[in-house]
Amino acid sequence: MGLMYVSTRNAEEKATASQAILKGLAGDGGLYVPECLPTLDRDVEELAQMTYQETAFEVMKLFLDDFTEEELKKCIAAAYDSKFDTEEIAPVVSADGAYYLELFHGATIAFKDMALSILPHLMTAAAKKNEVKNEIVILTATSGDTGKAALAGFADVKGTKIIVFYPKNGVSPIQEKQMVTQKGENTFVVGIHGNFDEAQTGVKKIFADKELGKRMEQSGYQFSSANSINIGRLVPQIVYYVYAYAKLYANGVITKGEKINVAVPTGNFGNILAAFYAKNMGLPIAKLICASNENRVLYDFFATGVYDRNREFMLTSSPSMDILISSNLERLIYRIAGNDSKMNAEFMRALTANGKYEITEEMRQQLTDFYGNYASEEETSEAIRSLYQSTGYVIDTHTAVASAVYHKYCKDTLDTETKTVIASTASPFKFTRSVMNAIDNGYDTMTDFELVDELARIGAVAVPNAIEEIRTAEVCHKTVCGAEEMQEVVKGFLGVV
Ligand SMILES: *Cc1c(COP(=O)(O)O)cnc(C)c1O
Repeated sequence: MGLMYVSTRNAEEKATASQAILKGLAGDGGLYVPECLPTLDRDVEELAQMTYQETAFEVMKLFLDDFTEEELKKCIAAAYDSKFDTEEIAPVVSADGAYYLELFHGATIAFKDMALSILPHLMTAAAKKNEVKNEIVILTATSGDTGKAALAGFADVKGTKIIVFYPKNGVSPIQEKQMVTQKGENTFVVGIHGNFDEAQTGVKKIFADKELGKRMEQSGYQFSSANSINIGRLVPQIVYYVYAYAKLYANGVITKGEKINVAVPTGNFGNILAAFYAKNMGLPIAKLICASNENRVLYDFFATGVYDRNREFMLTSSPSMDILISSNLERLIYRIAGNDSKMNAEFMRALTANGKYEITEEMRQQLTDFYGNYASEEETSEAIRSLYQSTGYVIDTHTAVASAVYHKYCKDTLDTETKTVIASTASPFKFTRSVMNAIDNGYDTMTDFELVDELARIGAVAVPNAIEEIRTAEVCHKTVCGAEEMQEVVKGFLGVV
């Protein structure tokens, strides 16, 4: 009767929503996907009257149908509260002809808060529902933002521990400071000598290790994931696209049924996949504009049908998008392969073995909803500078990648009519130095925190709490290890032999 989730690599492996949230990754390394996508059952007039929390309930109940109404509403209320610095939760700001959907008003000022403030509540509710006795150990690889948002979400949540791995030299100083100052008895933060992909691969290996799984079980632990592969993260991300559409309608920007474009700065393909799901639920979205930085593996994929990670890994000013293996793309591949898990598993085997695969012509024809492009470092800076100069509005480096790509889209397609929502994924205060350097090249001698104050001044915005907090906070996490030592480090933290 209920909606079941199935692994993208094995049609036999099924789970309820709460089970899929608990497990994170399917047993065969596949990702859980809903067997069919539900249809949005409220029309835009109704949605236009709703708060963020009410919208969240309307969307999430369709996907998480083994949660009771009471459970779901409790999770939503606990997540989207005064941790956010605006009652709107996700405001839409109009600037220079586009609509910036600000997803950075949560505890850690990046869009990961949108999902990670609710995931711990969904997970503990799911554990209760499934009579899980083990302590849940969240294992996460982060390119910067997930780590802090997950730490903040899970800190001191009973029955959980969280271990975060980040690339030691691959995150911004403020991102690193945010993570290593995290309080909470149940939190562990580790820098690795390696890049994000190595951290993510290491985490996937730990998940797949059956022997370790057994020993964990004996010690009363089980792993789960807070990475964007968990459907408990994906589903809450669908909400804000619905909310933004309804807000544009409520404000008279669009008429009923009018299609909008959505431009998303993309790394692991989670955020844009949520928009794709929203579209398939019936939300009037025309194009999904997939914006990459100089790690343009997705741009090449949309252009050629070949996904090829064999290339140099670039460190850019948008580190949360410095990714060569976009995990959530697998969910799209599975879908355009006609929900064929065997075929998808073949592609993923090729990706592991050779670092690449090529989709079929029939599959490519189903990608017409997407427009892919990328922005160079210079184009990204230029997007920040020009928007600031023409409007006074300051955007962060990730959002700037989407903004630059949106302008390329307009030029390429001559579509300047369709109203476009740009997912604004981080506060400019999180990437202050890159943002300030983009605006003016005279800031070299200032410290990070001096730059913070300068940004507040020129942007005429208050310094967010999340930044104020870490100015003087003490470093509590100092572990650093090689990518090959991750498993040993985990065992050490947990006392598992
Ligand atoms: C994670 C992140 C992204 C990329 O989102 P995906 O869902 O991984 O594609 C973009 N911008 C910021 C600021 C992020 O933290």
